[in-house]
Amino acid sequence: MNIILLGPPGAGKGTQAQRLVEAHGMKQLSTGDMLRAAVKAGTPVGLQAKAVMDAGELVSDEIVSALIGDELDALAPGQGAIFDGYPRTAAQAASLDAILEERGQTLEHVIELDVDEDALVERITGRFTCATCGKGYHDKFEQPKVAQTCDKCGGHDFKRRPDDNEATVRTRMAEYRAKTAPILPIYEARGIVSRVDGMGDMDDVTAAIEAVLGS
Ligand code: ADP
Ligand code: AMP
Repeated sequence: MNIILLGPPGAGKGTQAQRLVEAHGMKQLSTGDMLRAAVKAGTPVGLQAKAVMDAGELVSDEIVSALIGDELDALAPGQGAIFDGYPRTAAQAASLDAILEERGQTLEHVIELDVDEDALVERITGRFTCATCGKGYHDKFEQPKVAQTCDKCGGHDFKRRPDDNEATVRTRMAEYRAKTAPILPIYEARGIVSRVDGMGDMDDVTAAIEAVLGS
Protein backbone atom coordinates (compact mmCIF):
# COMPACT_ATOMS: atom_id res chain seq x y z
CA MET A 1 0.00 0.00 0.00
CA ASN A 2 1.32 3.45 -0.95
CA ILE A 3 0.06 6.55 0.83
CA ILE A 4 0.68 10.29 0.93
CA LEU A 5 0.70 12.21 4.21
CA LEU A 6 -0.25 15.75 3.33
CA GLY A 7 -0.23 18.78 5.58
CA PRO A 8 1.64 22.00 6.30
CA PRO A 9 5.07 22.06 7.97
CA GLY A 10 4.74 20.81 11.54
CA ALA A 11 1.42 19.03 10.92
CA GLY A 12 2.88 15.76 12.19
CA LYS A 13 3.68 13.96 8.91
CA GLY A 14 7.12 12.78 10.00
CA THR A 15 5.89 11.77 13.46
CA GLN A 16 3.08 9.67 12.03
CA ALA A 17 5.24 8.25 9.24
CA GLN A 18 7.74 6.98 11.83
CA ARG A 19 4.89 5.24 13.64
CA LEU A 20 3.61 3.60 10.44
CA VAL A 21 7.13 2.38 9.70
CA GLU A 22 7.31 0.77 13.15
CA ALA A 23 3.82 -0.74 12.95
CA HIS A 24 3.73 -1.93 9.34
CA GLY A 25 7.28 -2.05 8.00
CA MET A 26 6.44 0.58 5.43
CA LYS A 27 9.16 2.90 4.13
CA GLN A 28 9.08 6.63 4.88
CA LEU A 29 10.06 8.61 1.81
CA SER A 30 10.68 12.14 3.01
CA THR A 31 12.09 14.44 0.34
CA GLY A 32 13.08 16.86 3.13
CA ASP A 33 15.21 14.13 4.75
CA MET A 34 16.71 13.20 1.37
CA LEU A 35 17.59 16.83 0.66
CA ARG A 36 19.10 17.34 4.11
CA ALA A 37 21.25 14.23 3.55
CA ALA A 38 22.37 15.68 0.20
CA VAL A 39 23.23 19.02 1.84
CA LYS A 40 25.21 17.23 4.55
CA ALA A 41 27.08 15.11 2.00
CA GLY A 42 27.81 18.19 -0.13
CA THR A 43 26.50 16.58 -3.34
CA PRO A 44 25.66 18.79 -6.35
CA VAL A 45 21.95 18.48 -5.44
CA GLY A 46 22.73 19.47 -1.87
CA LEU A 47 24.77 22.49 -2.94
CA GLN A 48 21.91 23.65 -5.15
CA ALA A 49 19.19 23.01 -2.55
CA LYS A 50 20.75 24.50 0.58
CA ALA A 51 19.97 28.20 0.11
CA VAL A 52 16.45 27.42 -1.11
CA MET A 53 15.75 25.27 1.95
CA ASP A 54 17.23 27.84 4.33
CA ALA A 55 14.85 30.41 2.85
CA GLY A 56 11.86 28.06 3.27
CA GLU A 57 11.15 27.99 -0.45
CA LEU A 58 10.61 24.95 -2.65
CA VAL A 59 13.43 23.06 -4.35
CA SER A 60 12.86 22.38 -8.06
CA ASP A 61 10.34 19.73 -9.08
CA GLU A 62 12.94 17.91 -11.19
CA ILE A 63 15.33 17.47 -8.29
CA VAL A 64 12.80 16.09 -5.82
CA SER A 65 11.04 13.82 -8.31
CA ALA A 66 14.39 12.27 -9.28
CA LEU A 67 15.13 11.63 -5.60
CA ILE A 68 11.76 9.92 -5.11
CA GLY A 69 12.19 7.69 -8.17
CA ASP A 70 15.57 6.47 -6.90
CA GLU A 71 14.21 5.71 -3.44
CA LEU A 72 11.22 3.80 -4.79
CA ASP A 73 13.56 1.58 -6.75
CA ALA A 74 15.31 0.70 -3.50
CA LEU A 75 12.15 -0.59 -1.76
CA ALA A 76 11.84 -4.24 -0.84
CA PRO A 77 9.33 -6.13 -3.00
CA GLY A 78 5.81 -5.46 -1.74
CA GLN A 79 6.97 -2.81 0.75
CA GLY A 80 4.55 0.11 0.97
CA ALA A 81 5.73 3.72 0.71
CA ILE A 82 4.69 6.68 2.83
CA PHE A 83 5.25 9.87 0.87
CA ASP A 84 6.08 12.55 3.44
CA GLY A 85 6.52 16.08 2.12
CA TYR A 86 6.07 14.97 -1.49
CA PRO A 87 4.31 15.85 -3.75
CA ARG A 88 4.23 19.58 -2.96
CA THR A 89 3.19 20.99 -6.36
CA ALA A 90 0.86 19.98 -9.18
CA ALA A 91 3.90 19.12 -11.32
CA GLN A 92 5.21 16.80 -8.59
CA ALA A 93 1.78 15.16 -8.30
CA ALA A 94 1.89 14.45 -12.05
CA SER A 95 5.44 13.10 -11.74
CA LEU A 96 4.40 10.82 -8.89
CA ASP A 97 1.60 9.36 -11.03
CA ALA A 98 4.11 8.64 -13.79
CA ILE A 99 6.73 7.26 -11.38
CA LEU A 100 4.21 4.87 -9.81
CA GLU A 101 2.75 3.82 -13.14
CA GLU A 102 6.18 3.01 -14.57
CA ARG A 103 6.66 0.65 -11.65
CA GLY A 104 3.19 -0.89 -11.85
CA GLN A 105 2.21 0.66 -8.52
CA THR A 106 -0.80 2.58 -7.28
CA LEU A 107 -1.63 5.17 -4.66
CA GLU A 108 -4.22 3.99 -2.17
CA HIS A 109 -4.70 6.89 0.23
CA VAL A 110 -3.97 10.57 0.63
CA ILE A 111 -4.28 11.46 4.30
CA GLU A 112 -4.61 15.15 4.98
CA LEU A 113 -3.57 16.20 8.47
CA ASP A 114 -5.86 19.05 9.35
CA VAL A 115 -4.17 21.49 11.72
CA ASP A 116 -4.63 24.92 13.10
CA GLU A 117 -1.91 27.13 11.63
CA ASP A 118 -1.39 28.98 14.90
CA ALA A 119 -0.15 25.77 16.52
CA LEU A 120 2.43 25.09 13.87
CA VAL A 121 4.98 27.72 14.83
CA GLU A 122 5.11 26.32 18.35
CA ARG A 123 5.42 22.76 17.04
CA ILE A 124 8.20 23.64 14.64
CA THR A 125 10.28 25.87 16.88
CA GLY A 126 10.22 23.16 19.59
CA ARG A 127 11.12 20.29 17.27
CA PHE A 128 14.36 18.29 17.57
CA THR A 129 15.51 14.84 16.49
CA CYS A 130 17.96 12.18 17.55
CA ALA A 131 21.16 12.74 15.56
CA THR A 132 21.79 8.99 15.47
CA CYS A 133 18.46 7.40 14.45
CA GLY A 134 16.34 10.41 13.45
CA LYS A 135 13.52 9.86 15.95
CA GLY A 136 11.52 13.06 16.36
CA TYR A 137 10.90 14.88 19.64
CA HIS A 138 9.47 18.14 20.92
CA ASP A 139 10.50 20.41 23.81
CA LYS A 140 6.96 20.46 25.16
CA PHE A 141 4.96 17.69 23.48
CA GLU A 142 7.35 14.72 23.31
CA GLN A 143 10.49 14.76 25.38
CA PRO A 144 12.77 11.73 25.69
CA LYS A 145 11.69 9.58 28.66
CA VAL A 146 15.21 9.79 30.11
CA ALA A 147 16.75 13.26 29.74
CA GLN A 148 19.22 13.58 26.86
CA THR A 149 18.75 9.92 25.86
CA CYS A 150 16.91 8.76 22.76
CA ASP A 151 14.01 6.41 23.59
CA LYS A 152 14.61 4.44 20.44
CA CYS A 153 18.39 4.01 20.11
CA GLY A 154 19.85 5.29 23.39
CA GLY A 155 21.83 8.00 21.57
CA HIS A 156 22.78 11.19 23.38
CA ASP A 157 23.15 13.60 20.47
CA PHE A 158 20.19 15.62 19.31
CA LYS A 159 19.87 18.19 16.55
CA ARG A 160 17.62 20.99 15.37
CA ARG A 161 16.97 22.04 11.79
CA PRO A 162 18.36 25.39 10.63
CA ASP A 163 15.05 26.15 8.89
CA ASP A 164 12.96 25.55 12.03
CA ASN A 165 12.75 29.23 12.99
CA GLU A 166 9.73 31.47 13.00
CA ALA A 167 10.65 33.57 9.96
CA THR A 168 11.23 30.55 7.74
CA VAL A 169 8.16 28.78 9.04
CA ARG A 170 5.98 31.62 7.80
CA THR A 171 7.46 31.32 4.30
CA ARG A 172 7.03 27.53 4.37
CA MET A 173 3.38 27.91 5.35
CA ALA A 174 2.83 30.42 2.56
CA GLU A 175 4.43 27.97 0.10
CA TYR A 176 2.13 25.25 1.39
CA ARG A 177 -0.98 27.38 0.98
CA ALA A 178 -0.01 28.62 -2.48
CA LYS A 179 1.42 25.50 -4.08
CA THR A 180 0.64 22.36 -2.08
CA ALA A 181 -2.91 22.74 -0.77
CA PRO A 182 -4.16 23.25 -4.37
CA ILE A 183 -3.14 19.67 -5.30
CA LEU A 184 -5.76 18.16 -2.95
CA PRO A 185 -8.59 18.37 -5.52
CA ILE A 186 -6.55 16.13 -7.88
CA TYR A 187 -6.81 13.35 -5.32
CA GLU A 188 -10.31 14.27 -4.14
CA ALA A 189 -11.51 13.67 -7.69
CA ARG A 190 -10.16 10.13 -7.37
CA GLY A 191 -11.96 9.59 -4.06
CA ILE A 192 -8.80 8.71 -2.11
CA VAL A 193 -8.53 11.67 0.31
CA SER A 194 -9.25 11.24 4.03
CA ARG A 195 -9.06 14.17 6.39
CA VAL A 196 -7.69 13.46 9.85
CA ASP A 197 -7.75 15.87 12.78
CA GLY A 198 -4.06 16.63 13.37
CA MET A 199 -4.69 18.74 16.47
CA GLY A 200 -5.39 15.84 18.79
CA ASP A 201 -2.67 14.11 20.72
CA MET A 202 -0.25 11.99 18.74
CA ASP A 203 -1.84 8.66 19.70
CA ASP A 204 -5.29 9.85 18.63
CA VAL A 205 -3.90 10.99 15.28
CA THR A 206 -2.24 7.60 14.84
CA ALA A 207 -5.51 5.80 15.65
CA ALA A 208 -7.40 7.92 13.12
CA ILE A 209 -4.82 7.13 10.43
CA GLU A 210 -4.94 3.43 11.23
CA ALA A 211 -8.72 3.56 10.89
CA VAL A 212 -8.33 5.02 7.40
CA LEU A 213 -5.85 2.31 6.45
CA GLY A 214 -8.28 -0.31 7.77
CA SER A 215 -5.73 -1.88 10.10
P1 ADP B 1 6.04 17.52 9.81
O1 ADP B 1 6.79 16.26 9.44
O2 ADP B 1 4.62 17.52 9.29
O3 ADP B 1 6.76 18.78 9.47
P2 ADP B 1 6.58 16.66 12.57
O4 ADP B 1 6.03 15.27 12.56
O5 ADP B 1 8.06 16.81 12.51
O6 ADP B 1 5.88 17.54 11.39
O7 ADP B 1 6.00 17.41 13.85
C1 ADP B 1 6.46 18.71 14.22
C2 ADP B 1 6.69 18.76 15.71
O8 ADP B 1 5.44 18.67 16.39
C3 ADP B 1 7.56 17.62 16.25
O9 ADP B 1 8.43 18.13 17.22
C4 ADP B 1 6.56 16.64 16.86
O10 ADP B 1 7.11 15.99 18.00
C5 ADP B 1 5.40 17.55 17.24
N1 ADP B 1 4.09 16.91 17.02
C6 ADP B 1 3.73 16.07 16.01
N2 ADP B 1 2.45 15.68 16.14
C7 ADP B 1 1.96 16.32 17.25
C8 ADP B 1 0.69 16.34 17.92
N3 ADP B 1 -0.35 15.63 17.45
N4 ADP B 1 0.59 17.10 19.03
C9 ADP B 1 1.64 17.84 19.49
N5 ADP B 1 2.85 17.85 18.92
C10 ADP B 1 3.02 17.11 17.81
P1 AMP C 1 10.43 19.21 5.08
O1 AMP C 1 11.47 18.34 5.73
O2 AMP C 1 9.37 18.40 4.38
O3 AMP C 1 9.85 20.23 6.03
O4 AMP C 1 11.18 20.02 3.93
C1 AMP C 1 12.22 20.93 4.24
C2 AMP C 1 12.54 21.78 3.00
O5 AMP C 1 13.04 20.94 1.95
C3 AMP C 1 11.36 22.52 2.39
O6 AMP C 1 11.10 23.76 3.03
C4 AMP C 1 11.83 22.68 0.95
O7 AMP C 1 12.80 23.72 0.82
C5 AMP C 1 12.55 21.36 0.69
N1 AMP C 1 11.64 20.31 0.18
C6 AMP C 1 11.32 19.14 0.80
N2 AMP C 1 10.48 18.41 0.04
C7 AMP C 1 10.25 19.15 -1.08
C8 AMP C 1 9.45 18.95 -2.23
N3 AMP C 1 8.69 17.84 -2.38
N4 AMP C 1 9.46 19.92 -3.19
C9 AMP C 1 10.21 21.02 -3.06
N5 AMP C 1 10.98 21.28 -1.99
C10 AMP C 1 11.00 20.36 -1.00
